[in-house]
Amino acid sequence: MPKGSDNNIIRKLEEQERKEGGLPPLLEFYQRLLRIQSKAAQHIGLPKLSLTEETISERIEHGLPLIGFDELTLDWSLLHDTFAEVTTTFAEYPQLFGTLPENLRELGSSRLLTQETVKAWFEGSELPSKWMVSDTDTCLLESIIHATLKPFLASYSKVLLGLVNQEKWRCRYCPICGGNADFAFLDKERGARWLLCSRCDTEWLFQRLQCPHCGTQSQNDLAYFTDDEGIYRLYVCEQCKRYLKAIDLQRTKSEVLLPLERLLTLDIDTQAREYGYNPCGGDDAKLRGDTSQTKSSGNHEQSTPSP
Ligand SMILES: [Zn+2]
Ligand SMILES: [Zn+2]
Repeated sequence: MPKGSDNNIIRKLEEQERKEGGLPPLLEFYQRLLRIQSKAAQHIGLPKLSLTEETISERIEHGLPLIGFDELTLDWSLLHDTFAEVTTTFAEYPQLFGTLPENLRELGSSRLLTQETVKAWFEGSELPSKWMVSDTDTCLLESIIHATLKPFLASYSKVLLGLVNQEKWRCRYCPICGGNADFAFLDKERGARWLLCSRCDTEWLFQRLQCPHCGTQSQNDLAYFTDDEGIYRLYVCEQCKRYLKAIDLQRTKSEVLLPLERLLTLDIDTQAREYGYNPCGGDDAKLRGDTSQTKSSGNHEQSTPSP
């Protein structure tokens, strides 16, 4: 799998920085975030789990992600330190995120990042917003929590992903943490479509002819656009008006670091929004609650000429 470790991505960005004498602010911000996440990952190590093989296959069979909030073992002191570092980094890029609200800068991580808040974020329910004044504040806090929790959730993926029967899963949400996908790729071997979890970078197999957001399998509602070289795809769904970006690894020549591709393809996001589509996800709780979806695999898809 071409996931690409944080260190590989940091190295690649450093290379670009040397060649070009600097990085665009977004990539520079991402590089700093990765360093924080990578340092946290080293402290976290590999979590110990009490899930038996039987429980794992049972949960996969029933479309239940392998970790629930109560099963997460979080080092709260490390979590708070990481949160503080991530918040500082966000604050240093006002051109990307605006000026951080005073609350976020001054309240301190232990007051903001309570168990109640992390649980709400993890389960996709509304954050307890007692300190957040506006929707923008809440949105920013969600992004900061997302970036803080990532190395913690990714550590579970490292331990558990090998135990997931990919053919049996095929749900719209991550088999490890229940998060939604924000990127996809078609594999080199057979062109099968895999989704990438926005929260823990887990990759999972998913049918090509189904919307990962609303689950429709109606061919008339699903389409994709490609770029001139056919490397990138923009999957769109007319039923829920959502989109998902993907890269076709059968057509790429150089090394692909998937998490980095999310950022290198921001022009596709702009285009998708111009067409009137919104990104996939954003409704985790609802997605996870619905395990009644069909798991049939589609292998036909409708293509749309490049825009
Ligand atoms: Zn995940
Ligand atoms: Zn849809």
